[in-house]
Amino acid sequence: MDLSEILARIGRDMAVAPDRGKVATYIPELACIDPARFGMAVATADGQLFCVGDAEVPFSIQSVSKVFTLALALGRQGETLWQRVGREPSGHAFNSILQLEHEAGIPRNPFINAGALVVTDALLAGRSRDDVLAELLGFVRQAAGDDTIGIDAAVAASEAAHGDRNAALAHFMAAHGNLRNPAHETCAAYFNQCAIEMSCRQLALAGRFLVGGPDMPRRIPPSPLRRILALMMTCGHYDASGDFAFRVGLPGKSGVGGGILVIAPGRASIAVWSPGLNTNGNSQLGTIAMERLAAKTDWTVFS
Ligand code: GLU
Repeated sequence: MDLSEILARIGRDMAVAPDRGKVATYIPELACIDPARFGMAVATADGQLFCVGDAEVPFSIQSVSKVFTLALALGRQGETLWQRVGREPSGHAFNSILQLEHEAGIPRNPFINAGALVVTDALLAGRSRDDVLAELLGFVRQAAGDDTIGIDAAVAASEAAHGDRNAALAHFMAAHGNLRNPAHETCAAYFNQCAIEMSCRQLALAGRFLVGGPDMPRRIPPSPLRRILALMMTCGHYDASGDFAFRVGLPGKSGVGGGILVIAPGRASIAVWSPGLNTNGNSQLGTIAMERLAAKTDWTVFS
């Protein structure tokens, strides 16, 4: 079966899936997204692009943005970043404060909220929020080859207005000396990065820099690239990272907007979006669709 047929079949099945999960409501602007939406896009290492369903509809990438900020921070800071954030799966919810107290303000990994706040804080060193967001947007636009990608200001404002929990994480880390900028400034940059809006097509294209291979864009050196993929595999799906690795067998990063970016190293960058989330906060249908795609293509990092 070729890829377009595989995608078409997944799209047909997902269109009629009865259990679509629940759309996130804690960011009010996301609560009104139609749970019937489903889109998927695959950008292959040989330059082809396959899309199905709502693959052209922009959505809020939320925590998928953490992959891009990590790439930028590793480029700027290199290994010293790991003095401020760990590389272990958390085994806790994405916004948990519990572990942070036990571990003296050093977040477990860069993909839980506390860790992502530290990464954003590192990017802010000596620069304004506008500079950091311009660098981030420039990186994503160039990676995707698409200058139209932007930030949804309404989503950023909505999260800022209900961002007490992230503010608490930031202040707690500041109390432990693990924040260099005022907590409100780091949070403001973080809320904007999470509010980047992209379609599945744009996200799959943007993810190509993580695929490797002779014809893929090279935006970062091989060593940080492998590390980002390792973290996506072990920490990319919050407290369900093990389950995603078990079911899909490929590194991925999800966001509460219902998007997931998955990389099949040397083969493809894949984006899926369906806004209804499962109980772990990952896209319900997105996870199932990725599982099916991996099974049908035999793409895995374990063979
Ligand atoms: N902006 C969201 C938050 O910080 C991102 C969470 C996510 O996508 O996992 O709560």
